Amino acid sequence: MLDLGTEFEKKEYISTDKLQYWQLCFRQGMPLWMKEKYTEKRIIDWYDHFNGEVYVSFSGGKDSLVLLHQVRKLYPDVLAVFSDTGLEYPEIRQFVKTIDNVVWVKPKMSFKDVIKKYGYPVVSKEISQKIYEFRASTITGNKKHQNRILFGGRNGNGKMPDKWKFMIDAPFKISDQCCDALKKSPIHTFEKETGLKPFIGTMAQDSRLRKTRYLKVGCNSYEGKERSAPMSFWREEDIWEYIKENNLDYSDIYKMGYERTGCMFCMFGIHLDSLPNRFQKMKKTHPKQYDFCMDKLGIRDVLGFMKIPVEENQDHLFSLRESTNARCI
Ligand code: SF4
Repeated sequence: MLDLGTEFEKKEYISTDKLQYWQLCFRQGMPLWMKEKYTEKRIIDWYDHFNGEVYVSFSGGKDSLVLLHQVRKLYPDVLAVFSDTGLEYPEIRQFVKTIDNVVWVKPKMSFKDVIKKYGYPVVSKEISQKIYEFRASTITGNKKHQNRILFGGRNGNGKMPDKWKFMIDAPFKISDQCCDALKKSPIHTFEKETGLKPFIGTMAQDSRLRKTRYLKVGCNSYEGKERSAPMSFWREEDIWEYIKENNLDYSDIYKMGYERTGCMFCMFGIHLDSLPNRFQKMKKTHPKQYDFCMDKLGIRDVLGFMKIPVEENQDHLFSLRESTNARCI
């Protein structure tokens, strides 16, 4: 069944530039074979536009695996680029090594350096950014900007959700700089050096930001930030169906109870994880990495402040978190 979104979403997205919300819903509801055809057309357009000077951004996860398979069905020699942030699951790194023609790029900073210099990535990119800016405005005395973050501009736009305002007073640094330092910067350097243009395996379903972006620019964006996301209208179930139909091998991490891969120590979206959450699982599946991030990187303290359980017997913290949030509203 189509997910038509909340009333708020429908109202908001109906007015965006390139696509209307119903078009996204329609495309998301298409059968897999039709999605593949749509995606193929976008891959060909992108490839032709840049005379084959393209690459696939490959994370080792299932989405970019399906993307890579589709691109290489058409153009077998297209390069894949893996961003080795130092935070990838060992199973992902292992799997990437089994794929041909992959370039590994590395950041200049480590995660430890990033959290020390800028702060922890928590809740979401938007929330971390607002907390960072709010605190920076305290130093510069920019009350107007602080008020905009707390109460929003005209129509309440840009307001930080009340339930996260307590994080402004957290006794540790918070920022949205991590992705820039660990992922974007090395990729940017790679693109600058090679001139290649990316295919990325993101989907509108992944987040509100991605949905908004898809509605604004569609799959292939030739202006501003050039990138092709030809599977934007796919859904997670399509990915698994495609993997099954094409008998693709995928990373063992999915067989260990993880639905999403990505950086092991990232706290974006942690409040949305069902229990056991990613850190509770990590304690069982990757105890060495768990101990390191909890005790050497301070993640136990960050999640403790957020009332997010990190041990098996802490699920009750969810209800504590709700009461903390209620106090802050
Ligand atoms: S996904 Fe999270 S941990 Fe990984 S680079 Fe981005 S913010 Fe950092």
